[in-house]
Amino acid sequence: MRYISTRGEAPALGFEDVLLTGLATDGGLYVPESLPHFSLEEIRSWRGLPYAELAYKVMYPFVEDAIPADDFRKMLDETYSVFTHQAVAPLVQLDTNEWVMELFRGPTLAFKDFALQLLGRLLDYVLEKRNQHVVIMGATSGDTGSAAIEGCRRCEHVDIFILHPHQRVSEVQRRQMTTVQGDNIHNIAVKGNFDDCQRMVKDSFGNQSFLGGKTQLAAVNSINWARIMAQIVYYFQASLALGGPDRSMAFSVPTGNFGDIFAGYLAKKMGLPISQLVIATNRNDILHRFMSGNKYEQHQLEHTLSPSMDIMVSSNFERLLFDLHGRDGAAVKDLLERAAKGPVSIEDYRWKHARKLFDSDAVDDKTTCDTIREIYEQNEYLLDPHTAIGVRAARNCRRDSAVPMITLGTAHPAKFPDAIAESGLSVKPELPAHMADLFEREERYTVLDNNVSEVQGFIAKHWKNA
Ligand SMILES: *Cc1c(COP(=O)(O)O)cnc(C)c1O
Repeated sequence: MRYISTRGEAPALGFEDVLLTGLATDGGLYVPESLPHFSLEEIRSWRGLPYAELAYKVMYPFVEDAIPADDFRKMLDETYSVFTHQAVAPLVQLDTNEWVMELFRGPTLAFKDFALQLLGRLLDYVLEKRNQHVVIMGATSGDTGSAAIEGCRRCEHVDIFILHPHQRVSEVQRRQMTTVQGDNIHNIAVKGNFDDCQRMVKDSFGNQSFLGGKTQLAAVNSINWARIMAQIVYYFQASLALGGPDRSMAFSVPTGNFGDIFAGYLAKKMGLPISQLVIATNRNDILHRFMSGNKYEQHQLEHTLSPSMDIMVSSNFERLLFDLHGRDGAAVKDLLERAAKGPVSIEDYRWKHARKLFDSDAVDDKTTCDTIREIYEQNEYLLDPHTAIGVRAARNCRRDSAVPMITLGTAHPAKFPDAIAESGLSVKPELPAHMADLFEREERYTVLDNNVSEVQGFIAKHWKNA
């Protein structure tokens, strides 16, 4: 399997190099040159497989040039055994034909564990084989940082530095990062905001000379193809559990950077019968505005009760635009260069095609809270604010009540107690047993000034072989 850039100029790469690369050298994102396609008969034969086995069937075509089958199977067994539910991604029923797929049974209680638990193992495997080392540098406003740290804590060949804005992340989220102990784990609290952190990461990827040529940076945000790949699996899992592939399914996906829902689109292209995909956004609704009016335009960032979906642009949307433009990299490059400067539209027939693939909805904070309260009153089931947006959008956009509607449950409600309180409920979401002592654990992090040379100096000094 070869991987090509959405902007058409960077060289094609194999899986190992794609894993270790962030953006392509032309500024694009890597996608597979072609997708595997599974027949209904083949998908049907996967019914009843344990999650890790199903993951092997779905993902192996993407990695087969780089990893022997037995090694990959072993890696997947380890990855999904850390989840605290036997089914790994269990389904909970909300109504007659309506479901939530709980993707928050991993170590950090959000769906990002599905990909980052695997990514850490993949990185270590490939680096061991190549006798190489990488420094992971990332900025986080919440869920990504903790999932990346948990995913890499046992990696021998990786040091990880996560920047968060000092005193601007929630206490649960900060503690999930800073209480993980390990010589290769470094939390940096930057005296600035999230954008400052992100800019430092971007500048550092652009010029890595501060590392003295002795190691290189690797990316763990969802521009990394391996993250998307791991998220394709649970669409198959949900479908098989509810009678697929002999009936089609509808999915509603709380969306920020368009990674999770793009994985659903790929599952459909790989042969899984999916009749509806709903893009669910909060007030940061660039995708909903595009789907409704064919205008892709950045607005100012709004802070909402669903912070993991607070974005101005959706980086993975570029991967869809590439397909919508018949995989013409030059056209995508032109479009996105114009989009960086002002609003853009695409040709009408391409936009109409996008509207056939996706429905969309935007949900504000008040409606998010109403939905949390409503579902609790109906079912005594507590949604986190991100999942609540998915459930609301699912109900608003539903086309056929005979088709099972599955909302991706992206986080555990205990991660976002403020939203639960704001919804007027008096219940307090409890942290699961394995995290019950989070507030007693020892924290470790370094506060640094909002200054890129200071941060780079810290990294240069503290990675393992520095
Ligand atoms: C990251 C995240 C999202 C958004 O996922 P994308 O792949 O960026 O669209 C939604 N909900 C939660 C809880 C998240 O952590």
